[in-house]
Amino acid sequence: MKTINISEIATLPTKYGTFNIQAFKEGDKEHLAIYTNDLSDTPIIRVHSECLTGDALGSVKCDCGEQLHFAMKLIAREGGMIIYHRQEGRNIGLLNKVNAYALQDKGYNTIEANHQLGFSADERTYEIVEYILEHFGIKQLKLLTNNPRKIESLTGVEIVERLPIQIVANPHNEGYLKTKKDELGHLL
Ligand SMILES: [Zn+2]
Repeated sequence: MKTINISEIATLPTKYGTFNIQAFKEGDKEHLAIYTNDLSDTPIIRVHSECLTGDALGSVKCDCGEQLHFAMKLIAREGGMIIYHRQEGRNIGLLNKVNAYALQDKGYNTIEANHQLGFSADERTYEIVEYILEHFGIKQLKLLTNNPRKIESLTGVEIVERLPIQIVANPHNEGYLKTKKDELGHLL
């Protein structure tokens, strides 16, 4: 693993509540821990993979933005942490993601488009997530996710419960959600 540089802790007031924020720089990737003051022994954790188009631009092509805001709202209320994992486009990067979107415009689904570009359906890795959890001394958690692969990928901690994220499909993302469910085994 590369050297990790860790920032100071700052306050981040949001429309959902006030969080603490701390950055973890791993090579050229900068990840974030966004968390409430009261972290229980078994906090609610959301590992959110960066999706610039969904998180910041309001894209409804996927459900990432909605998932992020669902998580922020829930965690502001119940306590816990969002690890904002900077692995854009399931870790193929923004340029490749836009190329994958162009293929999707031609009728490929999200997985076929990745394959077409020479990537697997999911290129994400979770070492930095485990590093951040360890940094905060989190050994047990409740994972807020619909993705079973995330549950399997976090091996250094005990996941005592899986909390679902309920998202309402829209005409733009229902095909995407169906592919995630049918081919990546997502629990919706
Ligand atoms: Zn997305």
